[in-house]
Amino acid sequence: MLRFAPSPTGDMHIDNLRVALFNYICAVQREEPLLIRIEDTDKERNIPGKEKEIFEILALFGIEYQEQQLQSDNLRFHRAMALQLLQDKRAFNCFCTPEILEAKREAAKESKIAYRYDGACENLPAEEVIDNPNPFTIRLKKPTHPITVSDIIKGESTFSPDDIDSFILMHADKFPTYNFACAVDDMLADISLIIRSENHLSNTPKQIAIHEALGYTKKIEYAHLPIILGEEGKKMSERDDATSVKWLLEEGYLPEAIANYLILMGNTTPTEIFTLKEAIKWFDLHALSNAPTRFDIDKLKFINREHLKGLDPKELSRYVGFADEDIGNLAKVFLKEAGTLKELRTKIGAVFAPKNVPDEFKEEYVLLRDMTLQAPHFDDYEAYKNYLMEHSGLKGKHFFEPLRILLSGAEHGPELADLYQYLKNYLKEVAK
Ligand code: GLU
Repeated sequence: MLRFAPSPTGDMHIDNLRVALFNYICAVQREEPLLIRIEDTDKERNIPGKEKEIFEILALFGIEYQEQQLQSDNLRFHRAMALQLLQDKRAFNCFCTPEILEAKREAAKESKIAYRYDGACENLPAEEVIDNPNPFTIRLKKPTHPITVSDIIKGESTFSPDDIDSFILMHADKFPTYNFACAVDDMLADISLIIRSENHLSNTPKQIAIHEALGYTKKIEYAHLPIILGEEGKKMSERDDATSVKWLLEEGYLPEAIANYLILMGNTTPTEIFTLKEAIKWFDLHALSNAPTRFDIDKLKFINREHLKGLDPKELSRYVGFADEDIGNLAKVFLKEAGTLKELRTKIGAVFAPKNVPDEFKEEYVLLRDMTLQAPHFDDYEAYKNYLMEHSGLKGKHFFEPLRILLSGAEHGPELADLYQYLKNYLKEVAK
């Protein structure tokens, strides 16, 4: 089983979506089920509604899964396994208060040494533990040997026992830490491959240490994905709009284009434009670069345009707020200039909106508009144009500029003949 384990603590990020896509692709390729585990154990950071949004986004991107789970539903297992580790002396109760720990952390900082837990509570006599009324955390005993993580993308990294340290499994409020809940849940779900962000690479030896302490010997494969950097090569901040999947969708990037781009980034692929279904045929985690990749919105727009070009005109028409093949084809004409649905809606909206005409062409505009409203139907642009020219007596700039505004609502744009073929049945709505 593979798993995607988002936390419902904010808008879904493109990094997260990329993790979800790769898990989905690999699950299908390996013919293993995919579990969606909502990691809701950090109660303070959970945001109501985010869980629903995660599932909506998965559906929109065609990410199918076989199981779903709330991490908090496993609380009884987290608690039971923490008790087992205590019994087996692989973990211990720690009564150090946050203030004591903070003071020790400060002292380490002042002496310019890395802070490590000093083992203060590791060997407390039993009576001090049993009769102690104070709150306590449960810590895993620092491993006695280094732990090597073999990663499909990052290669091998070895972590010393000090890197791993005696870390906390259960908080004083009897809720598990991320590392503990995650390690227990992965074990219970029999996870075979963990694909997640490289932000978690330093957590992996801790989770392996938990598995070892629990006597769990299954070899889990890991793939930690390089983070996606902003256009300037810096880490993208949560406030960068483009990191939010919701924002990209609102801007009018198609799910299939976003997926295409996220799979293409830092990857070697047989073609540049592809669907998720096609990617399943050739995707290989081993082909991914282990360097961070830069998010390039222009590239995404290019890919989006290619996917928009491939849409059925009726479908495209619906995306821009109509239900008509002609308008879908009209949108395709505008694709030379527009790269998102939002931009297309603006272009098409301008065609049907009352026109903003510069003073120098106002008179000519009114003439051409009224003539268009009264003219017979012309199937072809040349005939329409000749009719207007002949009856208005206008020519050159004073003919073409107001005509362009009449047919497109803009002073520049695609060939009028290209627009006319899809607008000829709408001239009454266009001539405003
Ligand atoms: N819940 C974690 C996150 O949202 C992911 C944990 C994991 O994949 O192990 O970053």
